[in-house]
Amino acid sequence: MSSDQPNTANQKASDSHRLDTKLITSGRPNGQRALAPTLYPSTTFTSPTVDDGRRMATDPTEAEFYTRYGNPTIAAFEEAMAELEGAEASRAFSSGMGAISAIVLGLCSSGDHIVTQRQLYAGTQLLFQTVCPRFGIDVTFVDATEPGAFADAVRPGKTMVVFAETPANPRLDLVDLDELGAIAGPITVVDSTFAPPLVQRPLDHGVALSLHSATKAIGGHNDATLGVISGSRELLNWLWGFAVLQGANAAPFDAMNGLRGLRTLGVRLERQSATAQVLAEALSEHPAVADVRYPGLPSHPQYDLAKRQMRLFGGLLTFDLKDGLTAGRHFVEATQLARLATSLGGPETLVTHPASTTHVGLLPEEMAAAGITEGTVRMSVGLEHVDDLTADVLSALTGCAS
Ligand SMILES: *Cc1c(COP(=O)(O)O)cnc(C)c1O
Repeated sequence: MSSDQPNTANQKASDSHRLDTKLITSGRPNGQRALAPTLYPSTTFTSPTVDDGRRMATDPTEAEFYTRYGNPTIAAFEEAMAELEGAEASRAFSSGMGAISAIVLGLCSSGDHIVTQRQLYAGTQLLFQTVCPRFGIDVTFVDATEPGAFADAVRPGKTMVVFAETPANPRLDLVDLDELGAIAGPITVVDSTFAPPLVQRPLDHGVALSLHSATKAIGGHNDATLGVISGSRELLNWLWGFAVLQGANAAPFDAMNGLRGLRTLGVRLERQSATAQVLAEALSEHPAVADVRYPGLPSHPQYDLAKRQMRLFGGLLTFDLKDGLTAGRHFVEATQLARLATSLGGPETLVTHPASTTHVGLLPEEMAAAGITEGTVRMSVGLEHVDDLTADVLSALTGCAS
């Protein structure tokens, strides 16, 4: 990997190792001689004295009081994530949605306003559309690919959170992180699930909070349901106060697998990005395909922005089949290596057909606003050999031509 790595502005001068190395060295508690993460399943820990117990119950950095507050296995994962994100602190959650609901419900009150974008992970979108109104939180959805759209929608004194996702589900539209980070007043948040720390670090652009569904690339093996938020100590302490009441804390076993996943994140991302680039180019030339979206293709409407803020273009790509619903359904059932399943970032290549799965709950106009057609297929490229995957995709496309 190249040594002229961007996105390291707020790295400590003493702390000169590259992110690829930090993936290996981070999250190892002082004095621990075991190389693999240590699992502490214990839900509770003894206190030496009553005074110690009281102090521990109110200290967000305490890892040995009660597991809903903190836990040594979870703390090791959080420490690694904070280091990799260039953050003061991180907090792990039971899932990506656990992290997102903590941000929304932990930071916003009745009467507050949120600005977010139209293209979002479907769960996040439903949270904004159905849960927020019940709590009197007003949400504005903007086209985040329009320059200045977020800033223009901010209501001074009212807008508490500006929530972005980049690259965004499912068409891989991008948000300009420098522009987002420059918004003053509200707390700026990026769901960076599609772009782990090696690809982009939102905090380096002035964004306040970066979050991941670590269920995806960070865990990386489809065996951990996990979320994580990183940012300033002050904001994370506030979120901790809400999180211990929300109860969506990470399970120690999942945090252990999250930390295990980080060790190989670098090589996995490089392989997945390289294969995705080849597949995106092959799909672009195929007669059954109407449109391919991949940040590494010059045809991506925000290719220049992708080159500016992403170090790798990632393993996700989205394409539209000319023949709509029939072709989309045929394709995801016809691939043999690429499996039909909802998730991303793991070793196995997965395909989804959003119109009949993740986005099935949306109204037709909402689907259109989210950039989904009936022939849209999303692919999460895994670790299989690029030639085998290309052959699989081309063979499945044979039955899709109109
Ligand atoms: C999967 C996903 C989530 C939700 O994460 P869970 O771990 O499934 O709760 C949120 N945002 C994005 C972009 C995702 O891909």
